[in-house]
Amino acid sequence: MRRFFVDEIDAKQTSFSITGPEAKHISKVLRMGPGDRFILMDGKGARFLALIESAGPYEVRVILEKPLPEPPPSPVEIILCQALLKSRKMDYSIQKTSELGVDCIMPFSSERTVVRLKKDRLPGRIKHWREIAQSSAKQSDRAVPAGIEGLLPFNELVVKWKGEDALKVVLWEEEGSKDLKGLLRESSMQKRFIGMVGPEGGFSREEVEAAKDAGFVPASLGNRILRSETAAITVVAVVQYEWGDLSLR
Ligand code: SAM
Repeated sequence: MRRFFVDEIDAKQTSFSITGPEAKHISKVLRMGPGDRFILMDGKGARFLALIESAGPYEVRVILEKPLPEPPPSPVEIILCQALLKSRKMDYSIQKTSELGVDCIMPFSSERTVVRLKKDRLPGRIKHWREIAQSSAKQSDRAVPAGIEGLLPFNELVVKWKGEDALKVVLWEEEGSKDLKGLLRESSMQKRFIGMVGPEGGFSREEVEAAKDAGFVPASLGNRILRSETAAITVVAVVQYEWGDLSLR
């Protein structure tokens, strides 16, 4: 069943009006009309079965038939710190990790980040990334889309997480003794996992040291060097597999 997001749903009302781009999408692109049903969500956890009463390009009126239970959250909250990548790769990382249930993505710039984003372009980029997270949420039936934070410089990012109660991992292809799989299996399960994935050029040794000072454990994903976006998807999938909800519970 199709899913759509609106900013707010007044649960006391039985009928609801959808306007803006979602109305156009429902009526013009998908050609849905009276009698069709979909799931309406507010992005904060509320979900309703909605029945279309009338549909036009500017307004779709629905009856909220019944509230639907929110799918249970993963037992582990996953935060992905993703180095800023070229536009399509960044979009890909956000789309796929969102599908896999990442809770929050924190983009950062570091020494070897290739992309330089002008300050005035940043709000537009963040809006675009949030739209990707939202459409990923629609696709994967998550009631709450992944959060996308503002861009931070690497130094501020590691300081932010210093002292945070979580398993904090910096993915580093030069790490020779610890791998992510072993780390997850030997650590007692924690409620929060924070993974940091570097840019195309990787992390410098100094950055890995700074991350270690902030409590991050360097870990390998094996002998192959993965592209940054592949590493990001792998981390989220592996954590969901070992500690999370990549299974039927
Ligand atoms: N600088 C490296 C090189 O050119 O050899 C490659 C960096 S890799 C393309 C980008 C990021 O993906 C790294 O900073 C790291 O976080 C992650 N990554 C890729 N392969 C990895 C591996 N085998 N183990 C751990 N992290 C990996």
